Amino acid sequence: MKIIMLGAPGAGKGTQAKMIAEKYKVPHVSTGDIFRANIKNGTELGKKAKEYMDKGQLVPDELTVEILLDRVAQEDCKNGYVLDGFPRTIPQADVLDKELTKLGDKVDFAINVDVPDENIVRRMSGRRACLKCGATYHIEHIPPKQEGICDVCGSELVQRDDDKPETVQNRLSVYHEQTQPLIDYYNEKGILKSVDGTKDMQDVFSEITGILG
Ligand code: ADP
Ligand code: AMP
Repeated sequence: MKIIMLGAPGAGKGTQAKMIAEKYKVPHVSTGDIFRANIKNGTELGKKAKEYMDKGQLVPDELTVEILLDRVAQEDCKNGYVLDGFPRTIPQADVLDKELTKLGDKVDFAINVDVPDENIVRRMSGRRACLKCGATYHIEHIPPKQEGICDVCGSELVQRDDDKPETVQNRLSVYHEQTQPLIDYYNEKGILKSVDGTKDMQDVFSEITGILG
């Protein structure tokens, strides 16, 4: 099963993608996580990506497409995956579509986690992330058991640099300009499913499992 998560930054794509990955036994592939891991390890890719991410801009398509195609070519992605944060532009979606067509394959579902902009700013300002294992929390809605500490691996939780208020507004504008058009793109392909992302995370997940079966 190949699934794409669509939605504004902070809509809950990653939260739901992790739950889907666990239930349906497919890898969770997040381009944002791959970039953050590269930044943490000081790689050339990380240095390049950071310039864009810190400003709330998208990393250029050439760079992003290459890392994504490398990732999904790995053995664990053979039977499917859930893509979180990719595609974010029409050219990215076109490349994915072409590559899958070459393999006689296709995306099964594009799930749009729908959350209005007013809620997004609150979601992103309260997000705390574990840079070691990728777990995500929210200081009000989904708090860790112990403040500032990851439930999964015990590492310290941080606020992402790009979740600071001055960057959030920019990311939202970029989303509306460059990523939102993908909703029509996948609707025209007949695989778009929208869910109400303002509900609590278990209710959103029930809606998604109702779709995926
Ligand atoms: P995205 O991957 O779309 O950027 P995340 O999954 O990281 O978004 O979620 C953004 C923030 O909102 C996180 O702090 C997360 O814990 C919180 N969150 C996710 N889903 C919900 C929900 N259904 N209700 C309230 N908060 C949520
Ligand atoms: P995310 O973790 O999905 O919120 O992504 C964090 C940041 O990484 C984004 O704001 C972009 O700068 C960059 N990024 C992640 N995925 C992509 C993508 N598919 N295309 C371009 N930039 C991306």
